[in-house]
Amino acid sequence: MSSSPDGHNGKLYIETVGCQMNVLDSELVVAALRKDGYELTDDPKAADTLLFNTCSVREHAEHKIYSSLGRLKYAKRTAPQKVIGVLGCMAQKDQDLIFERAPHVDIVVGTGQLAEIPRLIKETRSAEARQQQKAVSLGRRDGSVLEISSSFQSYDPLRDPEMRPTPFQAFVRIMIGCDKFCTYCVVPATRGPEQSRPPSHILSEVKVLADQGVKEICMLGQTVNSYKHTEDGRTHRLSDLMYAINEVPGIERIRFVTSYPKDMTDDLLHAVRDLPKAVKYLHAPLQHGCNDQLKLMKRGYTVEDYREMMHRIWETIPGCSVSSDFIVGFCGESEESHQLSIASIREFRFKNSFIFKYSERGGTKAASLMKDDIPEDVKKRRNNEMLAVQNEISEEDNAEFIGRRVSVLVEGQSKTAERKAARGEDASAPGDPLATQLMGRSECDRIVVFDGNPRLAGSTCEVEVHDCTGTTLIGSIVTKEVQHGSSGILPILS
Ligand code: SF4
Repeated sequence: MSSSPDGHNGKLYIETVGCQMNVLDSELVVAALRKDGYELTDDPKAADTLLFNTCSVREHAEHKIYSSLGRLKYAKRTAPQKVIGVLGCMAQKDQDLIFERAPHVDIVVGTGQLAEIPRLIKETRSAEARQQQKAVSLGRRDGSVLEISSSFQSYDPLRDPEMRPTPFQAFVRIMIGCDKFCTYCVVPATRGPEQSRPPSHILSEVKVLADQGVKEICMLGQTVNSYKHTEDGRTHRLSDLMYAINEVPGIERIRFVTSYPKDMTDDLLHAVRDLPKAVKYLHAPLQHGCNDQLKLMKRGYTVEDYREMMHRIWETIPGCSVSSDFIVGFCGESEESHQLSIASIREFRFKNSFIFKYSERGGTKAASLMKDDIPEDVKKRRNNEMLAVQNEISEEDNAEFIGRRVSVLVEGQSKTAERKAARGEDASAPGDPLATQLMGRSECDRIVVFDGNPRLAGSTCEVEVHDCTGTTLIGSIVTKEVQHGSSGILPILS
């Protein structure tokens, strides 16, 4: 096994939980460490640098990380040169508690300090005696807004093209933090105050990505449509970024997540409607269908406000898909209010909904002022009821596509084909040994599967839909247009 000058074997293992923001953070951290000679491994036993990029939005995600850390206790005892790091939201929220619960952890790095990771790993490894290190940002009450904001640095170094989930899709962070302070949410504490990146930086990053062969840009922000930055005397909003990115040669699709319903302005809807590269899809979480619950959550809008937004979307962008998040079993949720959430799924006909059972989070207003009083079995039952209704709606709406043609950006092998290949089974399509089941997304973000050559990954195809499930359109390829720069590379991950 090769060894680097500072005595590590160069193998890095990273485990990531949580949202797209965490996926991007991990990608950037790995890219930085590759410059120091590290190579990724998916075997924790083989690595002597192990990082855990964490999420604090739900208790389950935290338990998962503590279990993974627990499994390393013995490994660290027998191989003390291993460096174990905890990054991200849980690191910012729990800080020293992580060292208490998992004393074998060497470094704790919050979301706003990720640039420090290579230095911290080096110092930890070269220290004569073991020394735990921590790099975290200020808490929301620990200074002036300016001081707190500057302690949370957006981490956006240029990346290694090999590190993206697929070679032709890239996340681009356009803002960090959140100032909405929904009562159940830890994000304003773990990711700090809302800060938008300068448009010139974002555009340069997009141009570099386009030169590397990226075709789809997904702009990320906790409330991405609240983006606002003044540069050269002009205030830029998300719609301005979209117009600018639309002009970048090589970029074919532009999307953004996650939108805050109250900030869904007409200029943005017009940009989604008018720009040929804009994906006709919005992720705008309603969270609950009952005004009393929305008020307790401090979401800042009513169901009527949301309905007004949906009517504007439907009128401005016919055919636009909208997806939502819901919290079920929040404090004091009655059976009637739960039924209102179900009714809202039927009314707004979301493409899909991410439904989560309420999980009390320390440090939030809801945890300190409200009682988590809905029993777990009731949360579970309500969750299942909502899922059943959403699945019914999704399947009905997907059935509308049967017989139609959709334009699909091919992402690579479908999960089914990947699983078959992983088990060593024949993953080729019936009657065509060169083809396999591929998956991609339509212009309105629907998952589409069809048989085709894996070399189509990264190209745009016309697919005729002949069947569907609640989550997937199933079709056959009609035409294929292999784009420049599509080298037939299969995705690393999908
Ligand atoms: S808008 Fe609310 S739920 Fe979303 S990140 Fe901000 S505080 Fe959390």
